[in-house]
Amino acid sequence: MNTYITLDYELFFGKSGTVDKSIIEPTQQLVRILNKYNAKAVFFVDIGYLIKSQQLEHIHPELKISSSKVIKQIKDLVANGHDIQLHIHSHWEDAKYENGEWTFPMKHYRLHSFTDEECLELVKRYKRYLEEISGVEVQGFRAGGWCIQPFNKLKKTFLEADIKFDSTVFKGGKNIHGAHYYNFKNIPNLTEWKFLDDPCIEDKDGLFTEIPISSYRVSPFFFWRLIFFKKFGGLKHKQIGDGFAVNNGILQKLRLLFSGSYTVVSIDGYKASYLKKAFLKHIRRYKTGNFVVIGHPKAFSTYSLSKLDTFLHEQEQQIKIKTFRN
Ligand SMILES: [Zn+2]
Repeated sequence: MNTYITLDYELFFGKSGTVDKSIIEPTQQLVRILNKYNAKAVFFVDIGYLIKSQQLEHIHPELKISSSKVIKQIKDLVANGHDIQLHIHSHWEDAKYENGEWTFPMKHYRLHSFTDEECLELVKRYKRYLEEISGVEVQGFRAGGWCIQPFNKLKKTFLEADIKFDSTVFKGGKNIHGAHYYNFKNIPNLTEWKFLDDPCIEDKDGLFTEIPISSYRVSPFFFWRLIFFKKFGGLKHKQIGDGFAVNNGILQKLRLLFSGSYTVVSIDGYKASYLKKAFLKHIRRYKTGNFVVIGHPKAFSTYSLSKLDTFLHEQEQQIKIKTFRN
């Protein structure tokens, strides 16, 4: 089974947290584990952070110090064979930096909030800057907050910015509330497909490729346990990152806590306890193809990293770790 370890490489959007604790340190810990298995990962870099830092560093010199650590880490990742691709949280456009903290107006949370021309300009600019600092060509995309629909807004941008594949969709994923909207209820029963007008619909002649994040169905108890371990699990369950996430909407929270739902296969926190189970289920279902794991370094814990280590160790014979570049 081709296995992709994909990371959303970013700060938090509630309270942003520090670059050291929320990006650099957990990424170093991850790389130490990957090195044991000579495994390479795909880093979807939230490049908006670096662009905004660059714009403001003449007023806040400390931004240059922290962003240069991130740029150095990205260069090191590339030099060591890891893959760098594009992750866009477009609300960085309005982000403000005051008293050592980022704040994020939600107006441009979705790329869709821009006109077609603005959207194209933004994506091209973000992609160009990521290519400039990483030194490699970038053709892969993951939408911030899973917000890729409706795709007709982004199709022209993908074509003109030369983006060829996407890894945003996950089977069963759904949040119907406001700015967070996405709905991946009906997607092909495949681990990869071509598309043109909609990443959730296969089009054999499509110009883009969707490589969906793997997911599995969980009962509400899963999220109750997740909250429990986060609050009372002690040090090993404590997230390494020192910020917190943007509120996902109370209705979404209630839905997850009181009805069954799908969740992504993930290295984050308590979710990492399902890596092996989800992998074995995935093999039974698809036999071959791709198994795509997602992670956010900011949300790793000692527990979740040790679960990843165990997973890579136990399944070493069955998985072939790949990146999108190869
Ligand atoms: Zn993100």
